Amino acid sequence: MYKIIILALIILSGLLFSLWPDKHNLSVYFLDVGQGDAILICSPEGQNILIDGGPDNKLLAEVGKVLPWWSKEIDYLVITHYHADHMMGFIELLNKYKVKHVLVGAQQPDNFLYNIWTDKLAEQNIKPTIVKAGERFVVSDELNWQIILADSTHEDYNDNSVVIRLSYKEQDFMLMGDLGIEGEEKILASGLDIDSEYLKVGHHGSRYASSVEFLQAVSPEICIIQSGLDNKYGHPDQEAIDRLEHIACQIMNTQELGLISFEFD
Ligand SMILES: [Zn+2]
Repeated sequence: MYKIIILALIILSGLLFSLWPDKHNLSVYFLDVGQGDAILICSPEGQNILIDGGPDNKLLAEVGKVLPWWSKEIDYLVITHYHADHMMGFIELLNKYKVKHVLVGAQQPDNFLYNIWTDKLAEQNIKPTIVKAGERFVVSDELNWQIILADSTHEDYNDNSVVIRLSYKEQDFMLMGDLGIEGEEKILASGLDIDSEYLKVGHHGSRYASSVEFLQAVSPEICIIQSGLDNKYGHPDQEAIDRLEHIACQIMNTQELGLISFEFD
């Protein structure tokens, strides 16, 4: 009898261990949520950071592919801006996951979607933190991120995108939300360090983002585009692709590749 129990425990612990993500690595996942953004970062210390939530419940399926089934905590949740393709997935996520901190820009739009969102936060007793450009969030000695831009007064919500530069050891990720060229100019004028190995291309590869000047300043080796198959906007736009090719980065698109992941030890 004892032998059977011990054997069962060995099998169970082996199973749990195989499902447990490697705790010594940082993982960055560009989730395949169709036409929208959702980026999940899992720190070596076990924190989960989710930037944007995609347009629908596909977010839950994608997060479920990456996190083990018992992991139901999101340490930081960020909404870059209040467009459906960046936030709708969060509504259901908040029912299923315990979210510790919510980071947002200062914009408070007067619309139905925003009201659903704030009602949901109130229901879960979460008070969002409003971020400002230049602020830095330190997760550990090796992992931190800086808010590069977080405007709130533009009529086009895309221009209010919270832009983040995530740094882990020597690797940097520029995460642009849907920021357009005007915002990129503002970032260039700010003098903040934006040189990065990885760029989450602004606005799903729209031609109204990713100026050559900005791309040259970031000088990424890898450019990731999050866009949906046969999307009605024609993202990514060939003009933007040409500019990305001009700076000779490797282009990766969730539309073609599905879930895109990077791991660093
Ligand atoms: Zn978008």
